[in-house]
Amino acid sequence: MYSKQDVGAISPRVKEQMISCLQDKGIKDLAVLNAMRIVPRHKFVDEALAHRAYDEKTVLPIGHKQTLSDSYVVALMTESLLSGETPKRVLEIGTGSGYQTAILAKLVSNIYTVERIEALSERARDRFITMGITNVEMKLDDGHLGWIDKAPFDGIIVTAAPTGIPALLMEQLKVGGKMVLPVGPELGEQQLLELTKLEDGSYKEKFLEMTKFVPMRAGSQ
Ligand code: SAH
Repeated sequence: MYSKQDVGAISPRVKEQMISCLQDKGIKDLAVLNAMRIVPRHKFVDEALAHRAYDEKTVLPIGHKQTLSDSYVVALMTESLLSGETPKRVLEIGTGSGYQTAILAKLVSNIYTVERIEALSERARDRFITMGITNVEMKLDDGHLGWIDKAPFDGIIVTAAPTGIPALLMEQLKVGGKMVLPVGPELGEQQLLELTKLEDGSYKEKFLEMTKFVPMRAGSQ
């Protein structure tokens, strides 16, 4: 366990334990595993929670009743988004703490991330500046709308759960691109899906697993 003074110096062993748990659970993409090794997950939560940041099963509160997904779900969604041709321009809905964004920033050229809660967006922006992350553009808005000025995207990742597949997001995805998102009711579990957009605008669906995300709310704050 770490005391408050120790959190700046999480031992490499703790990170390696997380990486081997992720591998045991089936994560294979070495670039994804390496990004998860490099990005300091404990810096995306309150200091008091830093000692729990590398437990691969722990969902962490990030304030404003929102949560940072456990590291396995982050790894699974990232691996799924990157399977096939590596996307260059990715839209993320639900910046939250900025952890998922920071992982993507190591793997993809340009990230566009949308958050509806200003305080979370600002805190994530400060973290990106502190960490020297420069390939992320941020916007405060309702993610259901996507980011029309920057569309189309090679990939889209949604880290809050809509009740159905948001039509505008599918429109802003390139043909052949992937959208990874949880879909389902506000209460209970949602289906984590990997959708690949087809020529005719429809999509092929792959079920990844059942998950529990915070709901994707309508409207900006
Ligand atoms: N990817 C985040 C997880 C954040 S939890 C991380 O790594 O920390 C989900 C986030 O989605 C919350 O911050 C929540 O405020 C945001 N959210 C919910 N509904 C939204 C919407 N309609 N548009 C944009 N962001 C939304």
